[in-house]
Amino acid sequence: MDGKIKLLTVEEVAQHNKEGDLWTIIDAKFHPGGKAVLLDDEVRGKDCTELFYSLHRSEVLLRPQYARLQIGTIVGEEERFKPLPPGSLSPVPYGEPAWLTRPFKSPYYKESHYRLHKEFRKICDELIIPEAKRCEETGDRISQKLGPGPHLKGLKLLAGLLLGQESARAGQRGFIDGFLAGAYIGSKVVALAISEAFAGSDVSGLRCTARKSEDGKWWIVNGTKKWITNGTFADYFTTACRTSKHGLTMIVIPRGPGVETKPIKTSYSSTAGTAFVSFDDVRVPVSHTLGEVDKGLKVILSNFNHERWGMVVNTVQLMRNIVDETLR
Ligand SMILES: Cc1cc2nc3c(=O)[nH]c(=O)nc-3n(C[C@H](O)[C@H](O)[C@H](O)COP(=O)(O)OP(=O)(O)OC[C@H]3O[C@@H](n4cnc5c(N)ncnc54)[C@H](O)[C@@H]3O)c2cc1C
Repeated sequence: MDGKIKLLTVEEVAQHNKEGDLWTIIDAKFHPGGKAVLLDDEVRGKDCTELFYSLHRSEVLLRPQYARLQIGTIVGEEERFKPLPPGSLSPVPYGEPAWLTRPFKSPYYKESHYRLHKEFRKICDELIIPEAKRCEETGDRISQKLGPGPHLKGLKLLAGLLLGQESARAGQRGFIDGFLAGAYIGSKVVALAISEAFAGSDVSGLRCTARKSEDGKWWIVNGTKKWITNGTFADYFTTACRTSKHGLTMIVIPRGPGVETKPIKTSYSSTAGTAFVSFDDVRVPVSHTLGEVDKGLKVILSNFNHERWGMVVNTVQLMRNIVDETLR
């Protein structure tokens, strides 16, 4: 092969139907064959577009790493699966939220929301989704494209429904958690450190402690946290600590002496930075207390309100992705 895309006929492809010299047609393009599956009588030297798309996602051949597999196009035939231009709405029924599907519209959306949506979808299609797919494969940390900075020219951009929903179209939940979860609670990379091996649903059972130093200026934190999203690369840990028998206090702990994080390998995602976090006599200024001492449960639960809401937005979009992919 010389790497150039050739124009060939169906008959010419049919000549290449043996081990070591096997081509097949997928959506008006040519692909050199591998073994096993491609040596099947229904596949070798034939048009197996339908078979291929009954097993693969519609966008799989658009991935850059597979471009080299295309060696030609078929004379007189057109591609059936054309990629939509970046920023497009899906034509699949129920593949989009109702308020983006005319003639419906949301009473909460002004024209500016639709404009923002269109622009952000384009950014997702062109930058975020390809990176999400790459990072899920390599486990690389995501680049930080969102958040405060000179690019916002002083404007405040909230990680609300629109941004959460659009970024979930990547279909890579761990990547999105690593990308946005910190932004729900802070503008640096901030992990929410509540769960422990000792306490999950039962938050009030947690054992990580914070006691005041003798001069009353410092918290001294000891304990461990588990399954902490963003933990491996967080700058700060918004941490639930036991400060009395029945009282929890939220303390913002910077990464520093006594703070250690170890990655936890999960079936969920390596890109989310899930970590086991340990605090060993960590000294934190009392000014880092979030809310009132011993009233931390209220802080935790009020954060869950919007954090969990963000997760629901993501999950609903992931379900739309399934409808879209299945029917496309
Ligand atoms: C992908 C992922 C990311 C996470 N990220 C973070 C994070 O960033 N920060 C953080 O602090 N934590 C995080 N967690 C931890 C998460 O918050 C806990 O997993 C969750 O609170 C549940 O706790 P658990 O896993 O100990 O399960 P358990 O609490 O042991 O629950 C096990 C099962 O028992 C059921 N159950 C529990 N209590 C009751 C009850 N009273 N009545 C009836 N049924 C009950 C539950 O519904 C569940 O089915 C993450 C977890 C996952 C999976």
